[in-house]
Amino acid sequence: MATTVLLAEPRGFCAGVEMAIKALTWMVKVFEPPVYCYHEIVHNAAVVTAFERAGVVFVDHIDDVPDGSPVMLSAHGSAPEVVAGANARAAVMIDAVCPLVTKVHHEVRRVADQGYDIIYVGHEGHDEAIGAIAEAPAAATLVDPRVGLGGFSAADSRKVALLAQTTLGLYEWEDVLADAVARYPDLWTARKSDLCYATTNRQTAIQRLAEAADVILVVGSENSSNTQALVRVGRNAGVPAYRVDGPGDVDPAWLDGVDVVGVTAGASAPDQRVQDVIAAVDPTNGVELVRVTEEDEYFPLPPQLRRFMATLQALVEGSVACSRPGLEGPIENDRHFSATQALRLLGV
Ligand code: SF4
Repeated sequence: MATTVLLAEPRGFCAGVEMAIKALTWMVKVFEPPVYCYHEIVHNAAVVTAFERAGVVFVDHIDDVPDGSPVMLSAHGSAPEVVAGANARAAVMIDAVCPLVTKVHHEVRRVADQGYDIIYVGHEGHDEAIGAIAEAPAAATLVDPRVGLGGFSAADSRKVALLAQTTLGLYEWEDVLADAVARYPDLWTARKSDLCYATTNRQTAIQRLAEAADVILVVGSENSSNTQALVRVGRNAGVPAYRVDGPGDVDPAWLDGVDVVGVTAGASAPDQRVQDVIAAVDPTNGVELVRVTEEDEYFPLPPQLRRFMATLQALVEGSVACSRPGLEGPIENDRHFSATQALRLLGV
């Protein structure tokens, strides 16, 4: 049977993941191993394994970083005490938090300072939720979207704020939002949604895939929140949707008798994995792009890294500050250097 692959666009790396992967690649090219990273730099097994091979040690406790080591903090955002701990013990500390996560951290602090009770809609135990709530733990309550507001109660029903993890499913957020608006007519929410552009664009794209595909494969790792959200959005649209980390996870039974296979990827999944999965599907009828929008967001490398590299460049006469080969080229060209190219240097 002839099979067509419908390939979602956009899919895969978002601007925050691009920035974080490139930043950590610079770290492993500049420093002798080990370079420490607090939490997985992004939630993708292939990316994490590549960095481990390149000499990165991932830790879940900042105290596990030996004094004087280079440290990076993950894209998901870290608690203030983690940032302080990393600053205290690191020789060089680079915070690769996504700017859109930082926006939510600012909101948590601001509304807490104004005396609001905060409902933070997110997934229990997720790195991003832990980091955001730690900005104001006395004021913030984590509400799992699968559970809803339940028994949440506010000290003053006129001062309630609703914030969210950036990678929620749109439908998860909308259900809680509707309930919260009904309970608290003066509810404070961010003027620009906390759900990030990459999350919403990828969810819109998978809905388009669901209109035509018989089955959808979502490339991404199990602990990737936005990947899991994509799977749920696909299933909610009435199409069987399966998460796969790579081609080895594709179950031939899913493709049995199927004409059209939708393929997309979470924001932390490398494009090489997507191509490998497409090859495993073997689309004898070809691959068609399903494009819902263009993305041109770009997040510059973390300011600490740019300052550090500028200092190194000043020290190394007339050339680039790389002590190890592979990333030659001025850091100012970062916009034209992709995370996919960076991962190729690490063998992904
Ligand atoms: Fe940033 Fe959104 Fe990407 Fe998360 S998914 S790193 S919030 S752009």
